[in-house]
Amino acid sequence: MIAIKRRRKLKCSFCGKSEQEVTRLIGGPGVHICDACVGICNKVLEATPADFQGWQAMADDQLLRALKVAEATVDATRSVLQAQIEELRRREISWDTIGHALGISRQAAWERFS
Ligand SMILES: [Zn+2]
Repeated sequence: MIAIKRRRKLKCSFCGKSEQEVTRLIGGPGVHICDACVGICNKVLEATPADFQGWQAMADDQLLRALKVAEATVDATRSVLQAQIEELRRREISWDTIGHALGISRQAAWERFS
């Protein structure tokens, strides 16, 4: 892996932010990850015991601490999805086609993402 700073047209593969919007981007084979997403990944790893045995095995305080991390992960993933859909819409791909790709109706796709 190589650390990359300030090249053109690079985006974080996880949150979709451009290199101008992040402090640093790290490149791997065909993917990039920004410093903020690395931070989220680290929190996910910290919140989840290395010997993860299922949610039932976690103490109340462990599970409660994990909530905020899980929410941040969901938010980051949602912003990736939204960025992908905005790019498809910019390319004038129809809501019908986007809905089909997601396995939902045109109307449901439009309601969720427009
Ligand atoms: Zn990112």
